[in-house]
Amino acid sequence: MTGTAAGTATARDSGRAGPRTAAPQSGFAPWKDPSKQPIVRFENVTKKFGDFVAVRNCNLDIFEREFFALLGPSGCGKTTLLRMLAGFETPTEGRIIVAGQDVTGVPPYERQSINMMFQSYALFPHMTVERNVGFGLRQEGMDKAEIEKRVNDAMDLVELGKFAKRKPHQLSGGQQQRVALARAIAKKPKIMLLDEPLGALDKKLRNQAQFELMRIQETTGTTFIIVTHDQEEAMTVSSRIGVMNHGELVQVSTPGDIYEAPQSRYVAGFIGEVNIFEGKVAGTSGGMVDIAWVSNPTTFRTRTPEPLSVGQQAWVAVRPEKIRIGFDKPQNGENAIAGKVTDVGYLGSISHYYVEVAGGQRVTALRANAAHAVERPINWEDDVWLEWPADAGVVLTK
Ligand code: ATP
Repeated sequence: MTGTAAGTATARDSGRAGPRTAAPQSGFAPWKDPSKQPIVRFENVTKKFGDFVAVRNCNLDIFEREFFALLGPSGCGKTTLLRMLAGFETPTEGRIIVAGQDVTGVPPYERQSINMMFQSYALFPHMTVERNVGFGLRQEGMDKAEIEKRVNDAMDLVELGKFAKRKPHQLSGGQQQRVALARAIAKKPKIMLLDEPLGALDKKLRNQAQFELMRIQETTGTTFIIVTHDQEEAMTVSSRIGVMNHGELVQVSTPGDIYEAPQSRYVAGFIGEVNIFEGKVAGTSGGMVDIAWVSNPTTFRTRTPEPLSVGQQAWVAVRPEKIRIGFDKPQNGENAIAGKVTDVGYLGSISHYYVEVAGGQRVTALRANAAHAVERPINWEDDVWLEWPADAGVVLTK
């Protein structure tokens, strides 16, 4: 986990800049509009395999044209949730509503508006690319001319035209992934489910493919629901992220809010790097809370949107890039602690500083690397001060 996700955290956040190639969905936030009906609704959905609860009481609304990412560690239930939506698994409890219709007991082949692209791609080895892409349409008995048009359009969209006559084994992993995507798109589903669609690609290809996926999603206007365990990927591509842990959806928010306003230590620690200080509420006033740190007679002052009670256990989460590191004791700092640098990670334009503070906690701070003549460099064993403003931290109670 690194702080690099910060750079992409706001990629899809409405109205904020980010590394986009496709047209930004500025102001796109149907989840904030109470008059909007979701295209997908999970209602109290639980899935058990024997005694094992793979998905626990999931309530989730996903809206048309969203690029929704289900994110979580291996085995947390992401694929099971997706498979229930596709109809390959039946919920043990609860209902799944698609476009206003209860589809809970409907088999996959009758869920016409949904198509799933599998992690394995499941291409037919004996068929050419174009035969693979048209397979589902032939199964439906579609008119030949219409099949040809749809296959050509889908192959153009994923830029596969020149490979039309090749067989899957004559393609690279990235090209095979695009065939699988074209095959799913050709059916013109309203909702596309993608289970780790970029899982087989190497890092560089994966980054490129993420932007491809975003472009295709926006061009077709399809609702994409993607399963991934890659935090940066979810931050880059999605309009909202559902973070899962042990079968439960623990937070559903925009990438920016997941990063800036996590609701639990789990979410704060799952995406990007974070410093967490444990303490007890010492006092509150005017939207501010003072947290007495357990490790040291220091209090941290942080904004809080929620009322907290004195004595309550709480944690302050602060991202490394929000912490200023320097040699001088801050004069009016709201949050300041002294420490010793134990490690420095030089990353070109920025450096990570690992600082041991009183009580033994290791705190990470980031600093942009200035020219030596401008700023004295910070090194191993240096005594330093760490400081951050009250609005840089987030108070967590779980
Ligand atoms: P990964 O990222 O590794 O694919 P995931 O979050 O998609 O993980 P799921 O595939 O949804 O996880 O599985 C959730 C849990 O349910 C796992 O512990 C898995 O072993 C269990 N599970 C999934 N399918 C079955 C099944 N058919 N029978 C029994 N247990 C299952």
